[in-house]
Amino acid sequence: MKIIVQKFGGTSVADADRLRNVARKVIKAKDNGYAPVVVVSAQGDTTDMLLEKAAEITDRPNARELDMLLSTGEQISIALLAMTLHAMGYPAISLTGQQVGIMTDESHTKAKIEDIERNRILSELNKGNIVIVAGFQGINCHNDITTLGRGGSDTTAVALAAALGAESCEIYTDVDGVYSADPRVVKEAKKIDEVSYDEMLELASLGARVLHLRCVEIAKKFGTPLHVRSSFNDQPGTIVREGIEMEKGRVVTGIAHNTNVVKITIKGVPDQPGVASRLFGALADREVNVDMIIQSASRKGINDISFTVGKEDKTLAVEVAQDLAKAMGAEGVEHEENVAKVSIVGAGMISHPGVAARMFKTIADTGVNIQMISTSDISISCVIDAEHTDRVVKAIHSTFIN
Ligand code: ASP
Ligand code: MG
Repeated sequence: MKIIVQKFGGTSVADADRLRNVARKVIKAKDNGYAPVVVVSAQGDTTDMLLEKAAEITDRPNARELDMLLSTGEQISIALLAMTLHAMGYPAISLTGQQVGIMTDESHTKAKIEDIERNRILSELNKGNIVIVAGFQGINCHNDITTLGRGGSDTTAVALAAALGAESCEIYTDVDGVYSADPRVVKEAKKIDEVSYDEMLELASLGARVLHLRCVEIAKKFGTPLHVRSSFNDQPGTIVREGIEMEKGRVVTGIAHNTNVVKITIKGVPDQPGVASRLFGALADREVNVDMIIQSASRKGINDISFTVGKEDKTLAVEVAQDLAKAMGAEGVEHEENVAKVSIVGAGMISHPGVAARMFKTIADTGVNIQMISTSDISISCVIDAEHTDRVVKAIHSTFIN
């Protein structure tokens, strides 16, 4: 049996016409001899609306109940898609995460998939059914519903593809693939034909919102190739896989930007062993994800430590920093929300010197100040004033992508 996993995002299943369009793509795969396993997200803005409903009741909803609520969005989509396929004359069955046996850890609202049962899906496929699985949800060891974090249906799809040994995993979305920059910001942005797992991981974590980060991690771990493409046309999209032949001379593959950044600075910290360990240990204990870190060189026995976190963690991170500042006799804590991170990503950087210098020169030519810099083997990120984000992204794109 040649299994194909096809995942359709919220915009692709938003109404009856679009569901029929999705059904046609699934039917095409079935008619071509594949056994389709289809993963769908909640229709349109359903998940946001469900979150609003919860917010009308409380600003601190119980996480188990929130998962119970949020998981309903995908349940609507699977039933409607199954009905659509029936109406078009094809056998199909919808299954929730629990019915499939998508086992996750216990952390509600950001659960990780630990294991997937194959039996139910395989037996339905053997009966000739198209199997439609609710994305974004699973079940924990207490038999409670969990969800995988916003955008988590991508992760459901690739985890199923890996568990079932699928021949391919297609991620259908409302854009034509992965672009060299956000096309809403850079008109000239180009679709990338092929990208490696590592580049895609960097792009996803640095702010390109096409694929869920966990999805790319799992694809890399199991070597599952992904095809990110549009549900509204038949054009090939972007292939994410290992060992791609680098385009000759491609130094920078893509530019990502992220405005969900807060910069926090502890000023005048005594320069002693253990300060960084206490600060970042305390942040880790509170499950705050720290991104960039800068410690200034010591002047007269004191220095400044700056770091960035996502806006959702601002309150907690500032609290932790203030506690530490007090305990250490530091001068104080400042935070800055109007910042953005602009990054370039490309596996070709490793073999091309001078890429960082070109990026900094480009930013300097726009007259914008760089507040923080961080690098990895295949990426360079700069924190800048948020109001200049679009201008800087455009300038960097025209420097590196032709
Ligand atoms: N419906 C969920 C969300 O909007 C999961 C997904 O779309 O992948 O985040
Ligand atoms: Mg969605």
